[in-house]
Amino acid sequence: MRAETTAVIIDGKEIARRVRERVAAEVKVLKGRGVTPGLTVVLVGDDPASAVYVASKGRACTEAGMKGDTIRMPATATQAELVAVVQRLNQDLSVHGILVQMPLPKQIDSDTVLRHIDPAKDVDGFHPINVGRLFIGDQDAFAPCTPAGVMVMLREYGIPTAGKHVVVIGRSMIVGKPMAALLVQPGVDATVTICHSRTTDLADHTRRADIVIAAVGRPEMVTGDMIRPGATVIDVGINRVDDPSSAKGYRLVGDIHFESARQVASHITPVPGGVGAMTIAMLMDNTLKAATRIADRRPA
Ligand code: NDP
Repeated sequence: MRAETTAVIIDGKEIARRVRERVAAEVKVLKGRGVTPGLTVVLVGDDPASAVYVASKGRACTEAGMKGDTIRMPATATQAELVAVVQRLNQDLSVHGILVQMPLPKQIDSDTVLRHIDPAKDVDGFHPINVGRLFIGDQDAFAPCTPAGVMVMLREYGIPTAGKHVVVIGRSMIVGKPMAALLVQPGVDATVTICHSRTTDLADHTRRADIVIAAVGRPEMVTGDMIRPGATVIDVGINRVDDPSSAKGYRLVGDIHFESARQVASHITPVPGGVGAMTIAMLMDNTLKAATRIADRRPA
């Protein structure tokens, strides 16, 4: 049985459900204006994990009342062929959001492809223009979905950020860096430390944090003794570990050692059912944002 002192579990599934419900309601209004938000995902190759992600994005579109399309290209597709598809989608007025599913086959340079997506349709928030806008603090930027989801979770649970020290572990362009950019914005007002593989004495940083956000990709590397009592712990990591006792032969764990961390933290996100649940909900939100802006500029 759980002791009363253990952390409050942040319910990502429930917050994501509420985000999706709000998005669906706003989609209805937009449809009333003659605009159906449309997201097109481009999937190159047959990576099974990517196929699963793409299918769940399609389902989320349907549930939100949006038009969700997938363009499938063979693993042998060239960079020029993929760029041509992106350019066609840039011109297509029924497409408001474009997402090129990563990873791409090795003959294709993902940065080059991302730079060809119209920034106004870049609902992943990976185009350099959106990255720049995010760091400037432009509210119109598309924030990458995972860190945007973490911000919603902190807000929904009333976790204060102003003047708080946040340690972000990981400096990727998908999670760590945009996470830090969102946290230092005026109005959020956190003091942020970004740690990475070359950080010396990671625990010395995390033990001084009011909020620890782990986005590393190393199973359960952050243990309870690295957390300050009463801190909030956000686990972005999704890692498969072998588990012969499970039907699939594996289970998912985060970058946080959940059992030890929950004994000291005030709030903690589980894996699964935490941050992962938020990412697609925020993708729907960004697609709605893209469609609304385009509709406002070009009234139906
Ligand atoms: P990357 O591999 O791009 O980045 C990992 C980061 O962790 C790097 O900055 C790396 O440092 C740092 N790192 C690696 N080892 C250590 C260490 N020992 N100590 C401190 N830092 C370390 O991963 P992503 O950002 O793409 O993803 C991180 C995790 O989040 C993964 O588990 C991924 O599956 C998950 N994820 C979950 C999502 C969700 O929807 N919940 C969405 C996206 C990712 P360096 O830069 O020096 O190499």
